Amino acid sequence: MSSFQLSMNESSKPASSRWRRVLLKVSGEALAGDQLQNIDPKITMAIAREVASVTRLGIEVALVVGGGNIFRGSSWAGCSGLDRSSADYIGMLATVMNAIFLQATMESIGIPTRVQTAFRMSEVAEPYIRRRAVRHLEKGRVVIFAAGIGNPFFTTDTAAALRCAEINAEVVLKATNVDGVFDDDPKLNPEARLLDTLTYQEVISKDLSVMDMTAITLCQENNIPVVVFNLNKPGNIEKAIKGEKVGTLIGATWNSTMSIT
Ligand code: UDP
Repeated sequence: MSSFQLSMNESSKPASSRWRRVLLKVSGEALAGDQLQNIDPKITMAIAREVASVTRLGIEVALVVGGGNIFRGSSWAGCSGLDRSSADYIGMLATVMNAIFLQATMESIGIPTRVQTAFRMSEVAEPYIRRRAVRHLEKGRVVIFAAGIGNPFFTTDTAAALRCAEINAEVVLKATNVDGVFDDDPKLNPEARLLDTLTYQEVISKDLSVMDMTAITLCQENNIPVVVFNLNKPGNIEKAIKGEKVGTLIGATWNSTMSIT
């Protein structure tokens, strides 16, 4: 297992947190919860509240949002002549809808938030500019990255890994609807065990559907640990952002105080 190296100035991180800057990935599915609607406002508000409490501690939080609750390119490609690239552009636009919803929710409780899109939509959001994103974070604003990486044939997991590396965030926190990574499908096998830690290689070789290969490889190459955890349990986002033990940790280990080493 590759050990995680702190990327920048450890001394500046908040005392009660393992991390100074994190990248939180929220999938579209997680935003939908168990609602028939695309977005459950209770979930966006729960995310906003937990993010608010950690930004008050001085932890910098960037988000990447998915769009699978509205449109997933691969599921629609081929329908009525829709080619994969066009379908993926629709998928990327779906992530912008989620991002704007989340931004509005965050700002409604007083968290200054900026949305940056991977392709220009200047009437609704800033374009992605790395240095500007970092400046926002330094000023205590939350930054939501939307439209993935801006190219078809990719996913927002890859966007999460890429943006994490670009802005020198220290960890990808993948918020999902399940408790973490299991050794078998917990829906089919009641004996399935939740795994505490995994190496990148285990994720790749066992083809565990944690993240797509491009995303996990990018994390591995850049020594970025990934925490997969359940967004629906109150307090989990806060715990994950502070580096406390929650879900499954990939590419690093928990130490004896149950935080990430
Ligand atoms: N997408 C894309 N390029 C990207 C990111 C996303 O083409 O860099 C498209 C793709 O069609 C994808 C959709 O946007 O299905 C929504 O993103 P994703 O499936 O990753 O969302 P999630 O599963 O996290 O909800």
